[in-house]
Amino acid sequence: MAFEGLTGRLQSVFSKLRGKGKVSEDDVNEAMREVRLALLEADVNFKVVKDFVAKVKEKAIGKEVMESFTPGMVIIDIVNKELTELMGGTQAKLAKANKPPTVIMMAGLQGAGKTTTSGKLAKLLQKGNHRPLLVAGDIYRPAAIKQLEVLGEQIKVPVFSLGDKVSPVEIAKQGLQHAKDNNLDYVIIDTAGRLHVDEELMEELKQIHATVKPDEVLLVVDAMTGQDAVNVADSFNKQLDLSGVVLTKLDGDTRGGAALSVKAVTGCPIKFAALGEKIDALEPFHPERMASRILG
Ligand code: GDP
Repeated sequence: MAFEGLTGRLQSVFSKLRGKGKVSEDDVNEAMREVRLALLEADVNFKVVKDFVAKVKEKAIGKEVMESFTPGMVIIDIVNKELTELMGGTQAKLAKANKPPTVIMMAGLQGAGKTTTSGKLAKLLQKGNHRPLLVAGDIYRPAAIKQLEVLGEQIKVPVFSLGDKVSPVEIAKQGLQHAKDNNLDYVIIDTAGRLHVDEELMEELKQIHATVKPDEVLLVVDAMTGQDAVNVADSFNKQLDLSGVVLTKLDGDTRGGAALSVKAVTGCPIKFAALGEKIDALEPFHPERMASRILG
């Protein structure tokens, strides 16, 4: 499971601090030296770590340690709050159009989990009594259209497809019209990914964006790729104005760096976390729960 290494390191740091009275500068310096290493080891962006450590130090030094508490507990509390802030503070909700349908455009590199996540998101929306439509816009990856159709069938959500000979821009446009005609209230557009961020990919995404004017642009990134995931998010965000990030594969042996850096580096909140390959393994991302989970 994700974060095990980080959690273990942080726990051993804090258990060492057992003084009384105020939290001393030495306590904080010692703890933060270890926290810094633990975060860097978890592949958190260097600048993010530096700012984080500085903030915790500023808040912790000189703090009263109440009866039956230890300086370690006081610092953990501050670290917990600051980790939560780092990940955006509160849960970032999915956008909703004033007039349905709400259009959600999915973007990401190939293999990040875009198609799977589109299906999972449709399932989540369906559970909330919505009527989503999946639009098969990834015409380049051979199996993507079929994969989305199979997912749709499995969860009984309609899938709009025009095969792989029509341009993704046209597919998106007609898909949106189909949703309007059929009184569906969410449109999830799966788009093509490439192995790397390239101009052609961005150009196509920009055209889809300009055509359907999405309420939400969700970038799907693979948490296993650590800082690479953050770099990918940064370059997509510079060109596409993302409204949220979905972190996938958090069930794997990730070091957690992406979850902790994405918001700080891109300004873009993580809206969902995917924790497995199954169709219901997607949940809204809660910064405070994730912080508590990291601290163990
Ligand atoms: P796309 O190219 O971005 O559309 O990627 P896919 O949706 O086809 O996903 C690529 C692979 O990652 C598939 O084998 C998925 O089952 C797997 N995958 C997607 N999300 C998760 C996740 O949260 N956890 C795990 N373990 N695997 C995932």
